[in-house]
Amino acid sequence: MVRIRKALDGLPSYRPGRPAAPRAGAEQAYKVSSNENPYPPLPGVLEAVMATAESMNRYPDMFATGLVAALADRFGVPPEHVATGTGSVGVLQQIVQATATEGDEVVYAWRSFEAYPIVVGISGATAVEVPLAAGARHDLTAMADAITDRTRAVFVCTPNNPTGPVVGRDDLAAFLRRVPEDVLVVVDEAYREFVRDPEAADGVEFYREHPNVCVLRTFSKAYGLAGLRVGFAIAHEEVADALRKTAVPFGVSGIAQRAAVESLAREAELLERVDALVAERTRVRDALVAQGWEIPHTEANFVWLELGEKTLDFARFCEDAGLVVRPFAGDGCRVTIAEPEANDKLIRLAGDWAG
Ligand SMILES: *Cc1c(COP(=O)(O)O)cnc(C)c1O
Repeated sequence: MVRIRKALDGLPSYRPGRPAAPRAGAEQAYKVSSNENPYPPLPGVLEAVMATAESMNRYPDMFATGLVAALADRFGVPPEHVATGTGSVGVLQQIVQATATEGDEVVYAWRSFEAYPIVVGISGATAVEVPLAAGARHDLTAMADAITDRTRAVFVCTPNNPTGPVVGRDDLAAFLRRVPEDVLVVVDEAYREFVRDPEAADGVEFYREHPNVCVLRTFSKAYGLAGLRVGFAIAHEEVADALRKTAVPFGVSGIAQRAAVESLAREAELLERVDALVAERTRVRDALVAQGWEIPHTEANFVWLELGEKTLDFARFCEDAGLVVRPFAGDGCRVTIAEPEANDKLIRLAGDWAG
């Protein structure tokens, strides 16, 4: 028997959203379980990727110099403060590897992003999960209370996956005043581009004032590059440097780097698509609320349906009708805002279920 580290015992497995099964008859099936962007890549991005593919016999630029420079420029930060990784989950793994191991603690809200317990579990550190407050929001007071002298990192997911609400600017400021300087606060902003609440915290603003804040962003959601695995952190040099040390060498492929650079150059066009998704988000949430559902306020590209014990039944009901949602057993379903036809289907199914 090969000896596998005890830390891996009982770790939950990351379950990717199931592909929509092909369906008999005319009705199309939609996969709305992974918060992907329903739009295909922008034409210029696809062509740049194809051209870059011609040099796939070469290793990529290990430190993604061109992409890092473009991001530094975009956010007005020094290039030394930008570190890339294989999606922001890859960066999160680098962060935990750089900060926590057996005997240490990592604090985060729960329920939140399903990758958190896995990433922390692999490290051997202890996860300290702080229940969400009313409205499915982070309870930052309780999270600050949960910090001990063993705490090495705190994750703040805003908007929170899978529930949707953001952390407010004032709340994050008050929280940061209570966090010791040697504890890293990771502000996971995978859905930042979908945020419209003017009171929402902006991680990058906080990073500028706080050397212990690390902001996580990704090209997977708003930018529509989920399949290419590229995300990044903005953090002060000590932290960013640690992330470069813990990165998988050449982890971000050449085509991913190129696609990200080209997407940044076409940001205005991409953000129009994000605006359309935000409008759909409002339409869907309003329709569900009108049906009597209690949907937490969402600033992301998904809605959260609290279904408790009926979660798996609802997911099955939707799947049978060609809508693959993401169930979290005993808790609720997260449904991505996608193309209008998929959103219409959700509204119809949710209405049938409720009524
Ligand atoms: C989707 C998501 C990510 C990032 O995923 P990557 O594809 O690895 O960049 C990170 N955090 C949260 C909360 C997410 O929902």
